[in-house]
Amino acid sequence: MASRFLGRHIITAKQFTREDLHQIFQHALEMRRIVTTEGATSLLHGKMLALIFYEASSRTLGSFDAAAKRLGAETIIPSPGMHYSSVIKGENLSDTVRTFEALSDALVLRHPKRGSAAEAARVLRKPLLNAGDGDGEHPTQALLDLFTIFLRRGAIDGLTFVMAGDLRYGRTIHALFYLLRHYRVKIHLVAPEPLGLTLDHWKEFHGLGLDLTEYQTLGSAMGCADVLYVTRVQKERFPDRPELFEQVRGSYVVTPALLDQAKDDLVLMHPFPRNDEIAPEVDQDPRAAYFEQIENGLYVRMALLGLVLGKI
Ligand code: ASP
Repeated sequence: MASRFLGRHIITAKQFTREDLHQIFQHALEMRRIVTTEGATSLLHGKMLALIFYEASSRTLGSFDAAAKRLGAETIIPSPGMHYSSVIKGENLSDTVRTFEALSDALVLRHPKRGSAAEAARVLRKPLLNAGDGDGEHPTQALLDLFTIFLRRGAIDGLTFVMAGDLRYGRTIHALFYLLRHYRVKIHLVAPEPLGLTLDHWKEFHGLGLDLTEYQTLGSAMGCADVLYVTRVQKERFPDRPELFEQVRGSYVVTPALLDQAKDDLVLMHPFPRNDEIAPEVDQDPRAAYFEQIENGLYVRMALLGLVLGKI
């Protein structure tokens, strides 16, 4: 039976049901088994994936590229980045993605404008995966985040989350909230004042049934956290206000001393890149899960590619 993901775009974390998440995680576990025992498979042999990135990326680009190759597919990456593509000649997004659609079987798009993935998908017949649309969403990151928590804790229901950092512009947080609405969780928010959730987001997440509470400091929220998810200040989203970055940087930093107040089985997460939010000494702490997130992203993206291309 064909998967219900066959040929579908992956645009927003809102599109997944709880059952979808379970299905993706089962496939991701199988991908982990394949990678750790055999290294690769020929499941997507003969397929081509176009990776169209208009914004900086290390992990997401590398992860999709590795996922495609571990599945036996090939990738096209306009090199070095879209700045050298016809975009500088004024080509619009629609023509660019249709060009790469003609050359590939599926596309991955990262773009600085919120809504750009949905906009691009409207002109495509082949599946497009959103790899981050401005301050909108980053659905594949949310999936790998949830998968990491699932692997560490065995279940999501009943957990208390502390989400710290740039909640206003942090697209990974927005996407994760859309997944968490399927679970019975508590969410504590810690953000420097100008970077809290917007009123619209607050109302939306509340309307989805999320149990949200604001805290002033990380210290005050630490004791009850099962998951601490930290993000960097997204300074590229407010380039005309450099003073804001200086004002808020360093206002929440995870140190070994702070972790002394946390539970022993805390899951400490960050989508990376990090700036000053997590001290390097913390990397040795077994509660730090951020490098695991990167590894798990490979398995989740392999699963997604297999699903949208109808091979699993
Ligand atoms: N890498 C993540 C993203 O693309 C987080 C970040 O950039 O801070 O959204």
